[in-house]
Amino acid sequence: MMQRDSEATKDIVVIGAGVVGLSTAIRIQEKGGYRVTIIAETFPIDSKNIRYTSHWAGAHHVSAAFDDKRQREMDKETFEIMWKDSAHGRPIQGCFLRHYHTEFRSDGVDPTEWLDYMPEFRSVSNNELVPGATHGWTFTTFTLYPPVYLNWLLNRFLTDGGTIVRAQLQHISQAMQGGISGLPQKPDAIVACVGLGARFLGGIEDKEVYPVRGQTIALRAPWVKYGRTLSCADGSYFYMMPRVTGDVLVGGIRVANDWFPVPREEDRSYVLAGVLAICPELAPPEVRAERMPTIDDLRPLIVEEGCGLRPGRKGGIRLEAEWFEASPQTKIPVVYNYGHAGMGFQSSWGSASIALDLLEETLAGGKLDTNKGTN
Ligand SMILES: Cc1cc2nc3c(=O)[nH]c(=O)nc-3n(C[C@H](O)[C@H](O)[C@H](O)COP(=O)(O)OP(=O)(O)OC[C@H]3O[C@@H](n4cnc5c(N)ncnc54)[C@H](O)[C@@H]3O)c2cc1C
Repeated sequence: MMQRDSEATKDIVVIGAGVVGLSTAIRIQEKGGYRVTIIAETFPIDSKNIRYTSHWAGAHHVSAAFDDKRQREMDKETFEIMWKDSAHGRPIQGCFLRHYHTEFRSDGVDPTEWLDYMPEFRSVSNNELVPGATHGWTFTTFTLYPPVYLNWLLNRFLTDGGTIVRAQLQHISQAMQGGISGLPQKPDAIVACVGLGARFLGGIEDKEVYPVRGQTIALRAPWVKYGRTLSCADGSYFYMMPRVTGDVLVGGIRVANDWFPVPREEDRSYVLAGVLAICPELAPPEVRAERMPTIDDLRPLIVEEGCGLRPGRKGGIRLEAEWFEASPQTKIPVVYNYGHAGMGFQSSWGSASIALDLLEETLAGGKLDTNKGTN
């Protein structure tokens, strides 16, 4: 349970208000004994922009942990929490949609080891395969609607006594020395959840962090209530997932080091063709009753399009703590939690738990490094 401000003994500053920063701040707050302040340039309430990835996610939970054991555990912990939150009667249930998802592949990968805990998990028979697939696995999962979910996290943080400050930091030490109005004068620790910002923020400037551009399209297709992905041997990857809003989010762009901030027409056509091939049912039923649909039958269904830059990182998520020298007189623990690539929602609670452990270990005088990601 959260302790009220008067009982809290340590001041923690979390940098970043994406899904990772918000979840981490809540985890720390709920542990008790901490007064938590989030400082960020962008918050969930702001309009969508290219500098804030979390708004652009699907977001479904379909783990792609491969052999990375740490990632598998984070994904599983997060699934268990979100599965409960998506249950009927839970306060945030209305932003989740539970549905059947089928992961199709022709790249020789068998995801059973990291997906077999999903409810109703089974492999599909040959006559259920979509064009381009050689294997498939189906299970129950959920999507969440990011704008609502993120604002719910923020609201939960504030309701439990958290503080927020808006600022763009040039250097991490600016969060340590009390020079920014609203921040504690002498924080006990900093937790950096800055996503792609880790590449630029002074004091971190992690050049292992790079953008993985995505371009998504929301189609008004409330008749489709299931999700599909297709991963091919040539590296192509298409996905479609239904949202509680009645829209179906589709995509298939995953390009490293592409910073282009707005949708491209060629990507739009590529995505629509790819998802129509794995799900012709996206086209309106009346069209399908008459003829084979084309991508021109999907264009009138487009309600939103956008681009997001996934915070990729060579070596996987950075979950690490160190004593940072803000000045010759000031050393302060910094916990890093960034680089979630395309998995920030589905690993959010798991990585927040590790960040909390790192924080407590470091404050207690030890130093823990769980930075053992393999992808
Ligand atoms: C098209 C697309 C689809 C996706 N689908 C899924 C999905 O289905 N499931 C899933 O789990 N994930 C998905 N993702 C990935 C997911 O969106 C990201 O992993 C996640 O949003 C990363 O969150 P974050 O909090 O690390 O970063 P962000 O959301 O970018 O937040 C970073 C925060 O740090 C702040 N910040 C950065 N630098 C500074 C600074 N110098 N000063 C002050 N503040 C700073 C920013 O203002 C912001 O508040 C998808 C991503 C994309 C683009």
